[in-house]
Amino acid sequence: MTLLEQIDQWQRLAPQRLAHISGETRLSYAELFQRSNALAQRLRQQLGENNQPLAVFGHKEPEMLIGFLGCVKAGHPYIPLDSSLPEGRVRAILQASGAALLLTPEKIHAWSSDPAENFQPVRLSPDSPWYIIFTSGSTGAPKGVVITRAALESFTGWIQAEQQFRPAQEVFLNQAPFSFDLSVMDLYSSLSSGGTLFSLNRETIAEPKKIFSALGQSAVSVWVSTPSFAQLCLAEPRFQAELMPEIRKFWFCGETLAPEVAASLLKRFPAAEVWNTYGPTEATVATTSLKVDEAILAKYAPLPVGRPKPGSRILIFRDGLPVEAGERGEIIIAGENVSAGYLNQPELTAHSFHEMDGLRAYHTGDLGHFADGWLFFDGRADFQIKLHGYRIEIGDIESNLQALERVRDAVVLPVLKNGRAEFLAAFVILRQAPSGSNFEISRALKRELGERLPDYMIPRKFVFLAQFPLTANGKADRRKLAEALA
Ligand code: AMP
Repeated sequence: MTLLEQIDQWQRLAPQRLAHISGETRLSYAELFQRSNALAQRLRQQLGENNQPLAVFGHKEPEMLIGFLGCVKAGHPYIPLDSSLPEGRVRAILQASGAALLLTPEKIHAWSSDPAENFQPVRLSPDSPWYIIFTSGSTGAPKGVVITRAALESFTGWIQAEQQFRPAQEVFLNQAPFSFDLSVMDLYSSLSSGGTLFSLNRETIAEPKKIFSALGQSAVSVWVSTPSFAQLCLAEPRFQAELMPEIRKFWFCGETLAPEVAASLLKRFPAAEVWNTYGPTEATVATTSLKVDEAILAKYAPLPVGRPKPGSRILIFRDGLPVEAGERGEIIIAGENVSAGYLNQPELTAHSFHEMDGLRAYHTGDLGHFADGWLFFDGRADFQIKLHGYRIEIGDIESNLQALERVRDAVVLPVLKNGRAEFLAAFVILRQAPSGSNFEISRALKRELGERLPDYMIPRKFVFLAQFPLTANGKADRRKLAEALA
């Protein structure tokens, strides 16, 4: 069955089951089917037979789901745009993508209300684009990652086999905005298995009290979020099994999962599994996974990010060649889940994507190594700086700081003067409230770090925080942290 057939079958098998809950709004599988067909029919009438991308602009409204499926059924890839994006950024994306239309919830609502009898969706070939997600480029201009039907089905096929969701029974947490590829994990896992997607909107996320009352009523069984969001929730003592008795799985991607966070979740939710997965948008959400259990926690800190999914390969390269077993290098992902490339950017695409043994391969810019068959993420290659002539990987310092016993999480930034790195600053979240003064703890951490790294890699300045500020996608906001240093 194609992914679309999997999704559409639920309007036959469980028409009244809820496909989406967001605030006060409810959308059943029957409504999702009828409305997405109606929208698709209208789009065909309006735009004729072409496959130009269409932008779907909104937040967590049910119309977002109708919009996504409506576009796909009409043969158009969709570009999800969260309404929190600044206007200038939206304009830049519309321009760069040549999107034929900007669909808002109001427009989707109006265009999906006339029933479409006997509508037949356009049959997408495996290499037709399904969605295009824009991520930030290193130059500051956003780049559109094109994900084909084959790439998306390679991801969903894998996770369905691995995660064994109970048909028409799961409730998936949707924390990430739809413009972030983490949301693809909950959205399509839910829709393909007849699940209910339970969205948290930004007003709720901004107010911890509201988060916990929403979670308490959610019946969430599969949690999908960034580790940072789970860490934020763990600060609340009520965040435990009594609040969410149905929870079976915590499923993470997008940034480092601290062992401390995984351990706390296993303790507070004894009936739940904790999964770490790794991958960039360019390789469709995730390529590796592992279940983090007590044995893994006892053996590894930092945690591994998993083993590659079937049909995909992970290679570690340095200076254009595969490294010796166990050595560190750049993570290359090859397989069906790798993107077709960046929209309308052949040069950028040629720079990051290659063919490798007949498979499409992506150069992630992430550093990693294998140990015991597990992939470990060792930071970003492009946070490389020169400090007083020394070549330093920021990710290297962060990984070593995170490995210290009293450190839960750490971000390291260069402090610039006239565009050059002057010294390094470390932002640190401690596992426990400090027993001494900040000065004493900084000194102790420097000493411990000095056991693992050369002197020139030891941050001069330490700032202790209870939480990192988060980006709209729920990751540690490095820009805000850098501003704090200015
Ligand atoms: P995005 O394309 O926004 O999903 O960001 C992808 C990047 O997030 C990857 O290239 C990694 O640098 C980082 N990342 C994703 N998953 C993990 C993970 N499990 N652990 C550490 N870093 C991760």
